[in-house]
Amino acid sequence: MSRRKTRPRTAPAAVAPAFTADSPCPCGLDAAYGACCGRFHSGTAGTAPTAELLMRSRYSAFVVRDEAYLLRTWAPETRPGEVDFDPALRWTGLEIQAATDGTAFHQHGTVTFTAGYVHGGEPGALRERSRFARHEGAWVYVDGDVSE
Ligand SMILES: [Zn+2]
Repeated sequence: MSRRKTRPRTAPAAVAPAFTADSPCPCGLDAAYGACCGRFHSGTAGTAPTAELLMRSRYSAFVVRDEAYLLRTWAPETRPGEVDFDPALRWTGLEIQAATDGTAFHQHGTVTFTAGYVHGGEPGALRERSRFARHEGAWVYVDGDVSE
C-alpha cells in the first residue's frame, strides 16, 4: 500500500499582512481598522462621507490590497483595468497635509498627503495632491499631481 504523497507545500503567496477588524487602522487615525477604513471596504458603513475619509480608506485599501474597493472608488474616466500591487512595496504610514472642499456640501475636493513606504528595503515617500469628485453620489478618486 503506497502512502499518498502529501501535497507539496506551496510558498506563501505575496499577500498583505493580515489585518483584522481589531488591528490599528493603517490610515493613521486612532481607531481600529474595522471601525475606520474597514467599514467602508466592507460596505457596512456605506461610502466614505468626505474626500479625506475616502483618501484614507483608499490608502488603507492599498495596504490591505483590497483591489475591488480601489476600483469602485476610482472615477470611471480614470479607472485602470486592474490595480498592480507591487509585492516589493510596503506602505508605512499616511499623513494628510491639507484638504479643500470634499465635504457633504461639495461636488469636488482635493487632499494633499504624504504616504510613506519601503520599497525593496529603501524608505521613500509619495507626496500627492489628489482630486476627488462625486460619482453617483459617492466620492471617487479622479487623479493627482505627484510632487517630489
Ligand atoms: Zn482608517
